[in-house]
Amino acid sequence: MLHENKCKWCSIVVAAALGIIATQLPIADSNKLLPQMMDYKEWTVLEITLENTEQKNLDILQLENQDIRPMGSPSTPYVSRIAVSPKKLKEVKKELNDHRLSFKILTTDLSRELLPTVAASREELAHGSSTYDRYMTFKEMENHIDALSTHLPNKVKHKVKGKTLEGHDIHLVTVSDYTIDEDKSVIFVEGGIHAREWISPAAAMNLIDHLVESPALTKHIEWHIMPVVNPDGYVYSKSWDRLWRKNRSGTWFFFCTGVDLNRNFGFHWAGDGASTNPCKQNYAGESQFSEKESKAVRDAVLEVKDRIEAYVTFHSYGQYIMYPWGHTVKTQHENHESLDKVGQAMAKAILTAEGKRYKVGPAGKVLYVASGASDDWVANVTGAPYIYTIELRDDGSYGFILPETKIQAGVNDAWVAMQVIAKEVMDQSNLRTTIPEDDPADLPAEPKKRRRRGCKGKIHNGKKRKRCRRTKNKDYVINH
Ligand SMILES: [Zn+2]
Repeated sequence: MLHENKCKWCSIVVAAALGIIATQLPIADSNKLLPQMMDYKEWTVLEITLENTEQKNLDILQLENQDIRPMGSPSTPYVSRIAVSPKKLKEVKKELNDHRLSFKILTTDLSRELLPTVAASREELAHGSSTYDRYMTFKEMENHIDALSTHLPNKVKHKVKGKTLEGHDIHLVTVSDYTIDEDKSVIFVEGGIHAREWISPAAAMNLIDHLVESPALTKHIEWHIMPVVNPDGYVYSKSWDRLWRKNRSGTWFFFCTGVDLNRNFGFHWAGDGASTNPCKQNYAGESQFSEKESKAVRDAVLEVKDRIEAYVTFHSYGQYIMYPWGHTVKTQHENHESLDKVGQAMAKAILTAEGKRYKVGPAGKVLYVASGASDDWVANVTGAPYIYTIELRDDGSYGFILPETKIQAGVNDAWVAMQVIAKEVMDQSNLRTTIPEDDPADLPAEPKKRRRRGCKGKIHNGKKRKRCRRTKNKDYVINH
């Protein structure tokens, strides 16, 4: 099938101006559209219909070079998109036909779709403040983190967990009520691992902003948030190439740059759904944890491994709430039922609050099989009961290029979902006696009484996991 789609893509998407593909990267990013940005002029976006999930990993859909950009999968099953330069279009169409894959053309000039957001407001942010009216630069996010930790030392702490090749800091922000001295449950959140998914770091930053005003959610929970795991990629995406996905590492093949950090984790590394070809968008790297960014996440997780009750990684797009396993569809996670139940609760809460439908299920089944991803690794190494990858807005109309006017609604989805998880963690730990139905920030700061739950030894991946939390001022129970 080949026909013009005159609809959504014609009213869409992003940034970029005149230009050539840049070969060097400035350390500082910019709010302004830079003349060197890749413009995607006359690039065609093809939407390809697949017959099975294996086809999603066909070379033609995963190769990423100066003529092809994989554009992800919308929330329609068995569909994949690629952007193709005018130079390669004929060849790509032929290859799709050779594979008997049907496709339609969404746009014949991607640059037209990118332009509308260029006109968005570029007002300077007051130093240290945040905004969700436009996508913040990495520097603005750093300034905001710095301001919060300086002004709210009893609530927000900040550490640098690593430095990237280009010298950017990989930040870890922890939010909790630090006036309460106890060994708290940890909810770990990671954002910005894929450069072009700008709504992801925005959601993580927005979460931090909410948490500093939510005493009920920080009294007995310590939130560990890495808002921009891939700062080199984010800066590159904002400054040079809007559709960049990976980090900016050099590879053994000079012409292809970047490792897919979400294929670089040490669990089923380089298995199904990951590639050893550096020219593919899902290149797993030279070895597991070969990258500074994935190492930083690994180290930050391992430091609190026994306290992590929930782990969430924000991505886009497609509107999915996914849980392990992602590396296979053959094995069901042992917590499948509770993962699904809480996932469905998150989806329901988002639908009620924001009117958007999210699909819930195991990552390998709902989207596609991917090995070496952070969620599977965390599930395996921590045995934490709640592990989710949330693919935020949208459902495919705008794809990665979510307009600035939709940021606030997109980050709200994430905030609604995180409140559901936080409640679940508190319920499981009996850390509260009342279940708030409204904004948890409205909860009384002091729960009436902290009950001790019946502690059950729970086995995750053959390891028994402590399900009772130790507090310094209370006796405690150890499970075996
Ligand atoms: Zn992603």
